Amino acid sequence: MTESSIIPVFDGHNDVLLRLRRGGLNSVNAFLNGESAGHIDLPRARRGGLAGGLCAIFIPSPDQPRTDNADFAAPAQPDALNETLAMARLLFAIEARSEGAVKVCRSAADIRRSISEGQFAAVFHIEGAEAVAADLDALYVLHQAGLRSLGPVWSRPNVFAYGVPFRFPSPPDIGPGLTDAGKDLIRACNELRIMIDLSHMNEQGFWDIAKLSNAPLVASHSNAYALSPHSRNLTDRQLDAIRDTGGLVGINFGVLFLRDDGVRNADTPLEVLVRHAAYIAERIGIEHVALGSDFDGTTIPASLGDASGLPKLIDALRAHGFDDEALAKIAHQNWVRVLEQTWGG
Ligand SMILES: [Zn+2]
Repeated sequence: MTESSIIPVFDGHNDVLLRLRRGGLNSVNAFLNGESAGHIDLPRARRGGLAGGLCAIFIPSPDQPRTDNADFAAPAQPDALNETLAMARLLFAIEARSEGAVKVCRSAADIRRSISEGQFAAVFHIEGAEAVAADLDALYVLHQAGLRSLGPVWSRPNVFAYGVPFRFPSPPDIGPGLTDAGKDLIRACNELRIMIDLSHMNEQGFWDIAKLSNAPLVASHSNAYALSPHSRNLTDRQLDAIRDTGGLVGINFGVLFLRDDGVRNADTPLEVLVRHAAYIAERIGIEHVALGSDFDGTTIPASLGDASGLPKLIDALRAHGFDDEALAKIAHQNWVRVLEQTWGG
């Protein structure tokens, strides 16, 4: 495959900042120059056509268990804020030292320009709003610093909502919805035009946001519950609600959320991933299907490997019957449309 035939991918979710955080500011060079660890660095992103995406700031739970169906406790707010600032500094250090190769994008126009110029388009995203207290002060300040997307919860309770625990097989209808502080958070995100990410919400929280929010509904890295009955996946009714608001679903590459047996087995063919894309496209339309790799955050199919393997996924989608127009929508156009609508022009 030649360089020019690579379709640029703008991706809804990666955890590269969490991986790099362990190496501190020294890892900035590892990201820019390339390394063998993990799924994303700049050279591998370029090889695979990964043009950018939502770079999550996620704070692991204290003493986070290593099993897949554990219950997790949220970090304390001051600790989460400190850690969020450290990870945001890492993102800005990558941008500053990249000599123009990486840009922290604050608008859809930024993303379009970066994609066309071959500059990695990073979006400052928070997965689980533990850094923000109920007074929301930190939300307003982080927005000024470039925060453009936020998931109220990861899969654990916090002051805003409950989060869907990891369960298989289980529907996402586990626990109550938004707290009063959570409703304030959604209103503030609408006011600031911060994208609200529904991945990791439980079902009641999803419907509470659907009722309250004036933005397109977005699940940045989730799959179809009909094909993989994991609590993190979306029921048909949830998919329909996303379609009805003009939103999107980013297909998660994590084998836990793809397979019908819920086993963390990297020996999972790419066709299983393609099946989720095809199912969601068939049910709610190609305009609402995108990618949300979860690179550096979970176990992905071994045949994909890392970001440099994205052309294999594009080939598998093409082999299924998606034409170039559909592939461009899935790969980046749907994300840019929804972000533009959410953020304003
Ligand atoms: Zn996640």
